Amino acid sequence: MTLHIPFDNSYAALPDGFYSRISPTPVAAPSLIAVNRDLAKILKITLPEDTAEIARIFSGNALPEGAAPLAQLYAGHQFGHFSPQLGDGRAILLGETVGRDGLRRDIQLKGAGPTPYSRMGDGRAWLGPVLREYVVSEAMHALGVPTTRALAAVRTGEDIQRETLLPGAVLTRVAASHIRVGTFQIFAARRDGAALQRLYEYTRQRHYPDASDPAALLQGVIERQAALVAHWMSLGFIHGVMNTDNCTLSGETIDYGPCAFMDTYDPQAVFSSIDRHGRYGYAAQADIIVWNMAQLATALIPLMPDPEAAVEQFTAQVHAMPGLIRAEYERRFAAKIGIAAMRDGDKQLVTELLTRMHANQADFTNTFRALADGTARDQFSDATDFDNWETDWTRRLEDEAEPKALMRRTNPAVIPRNHRIEQMIAAALADDDAPFHRLNAVLSRPFDDDPGAADLRRPPTPSEVVPATFCGT
Ligand code: AMP
Ligand code: MG
Repeated sequence: MTLHIPFDNSYAALPDGFYSRISPTPVAAPSLIAVNRDLAKILKITLPEDTAEIARIFSGNALPEGAAPLAQLYAGHQFGHFSPQLGDGRAILLGETVGRDGLRRDIQLKGAGPTPYSRMGDGRAWLGPVLREYVVSEAMHALGVPTTRALAAVRTGEDIQRETLLPGAVLTRVAASHIRVGTFQIFAARRDGAALQRLYEYTRQRHYPDASDPAALLQGVIERQAALVAHWMSLGFIHGVMNTDNCTLSGETIDYGPCAFMDTYDPQAVFSSIDRHGRYGYAAQADIIVWNMAQLATALIPLMPDPEAAVEQFTAQVHAMPGLIRAEYERRFAAKIGIAAMRDGDKQLVTELLTRMHANQADFTNTFRALADGTARDQFSDATDFDNWETDWTRRLEDEAEPKALMRRTNPAVIPRNHRIEQMIAAALADDDAPFHRLNAVLSRPFDDDPGAADLRRPPTPSEVVPATFCGT
């Protein structure tokens, strides 16, 4: 049996200016690290027994029948500065499938060799970021967060030059689409109205079939992105590089570079080594996503019959976004303390807890998880700080039907902690993939109490703390 992917490609039918046709560059000795069988099933992909055959396909050494490989063109604001042309510099879209659930998804190789958009890059990825994206994106999916997913990871058998020589790898990424704010920006910046119109029609059909005009599409994206960022924040997740080229129209999380989950609660937390001014820090995410939507709105204006009226309308839509984020944030944090339907004073209760957690350097994930077990006070350096809050909270919960169940399905027991990711990568560099497989297994059920996974729930010891993360390009 050979590996079969039932391709149904639509992006490749768009005009030439949207992408460059390019095949993956073969690698020396592909070997399979992991293939996501559950996801393959959803995508209607048949997998052979022979892992060498799977590695050949998901390294790019063999093209599956029906693939129409291409690198997509896009632009983007990177740390606030507009780059008029980026594009897939190391990613190659193989094509799309329509899954068992009726959803169309992209299948893309990341690290598959140079493309016309590689600029100075080598088109490759090293093992660390590939495994990190595999683990974190699958964990996010299990946590219920809209996200791209990981279908496979393959070692290339080649070393690539970074600061040192490092083993290369290829990630197969699956996404609702790879259309980014930057995809709209490139055609708007070029004043290519026909391409912009075409992209709008394509995006509307693929993601917002009910949208009657660009304003409605913008509204759809704003709502999904507002919900997404509030969801991230409710889990202590920091994306790390929310450039407009890393911001999807579908509302999925994309591009797991220097991302991190915080351990102790700190609203100012920043991990990315390249984010010197905290532009993409934990709390800043709620502001910067609004800025990103303003860039999308700007790119959509030429599509509107009356640009001046459009500016007014889009401005109102963007200005309403902070309210949407706040409402989602408040709803999610209320649920985290066991409150299903919010009422006056609940916001205050959440803020009070977070302030005390910050002052006491409480672990974000473990404190919320412990609320349902009655052991949260152990997370505070001064437990009386918690006790004072608990009195008010307990009284409030008397009016809630099933606060404990709500908290247990809202507050994960386990997240991909930075130090465990680093340890997993270090092991894989020494050819031990067991920690990678174990992380995937445990993180596939993040809301379970698994006594065998206690070590993965433990915060880092002082020497294990990861002070900074790297995008690893
Ligand atoms: P990212 O930081 O992964 O979002 O990438 C930003 C831009 O740099 C995108 O256009 C990437 O395709 C490109 N890029 C990142 N790494 C490489 C690489 N190793 N070779 C070529 N292009 C790259
Ligand atoms: Mg990117």
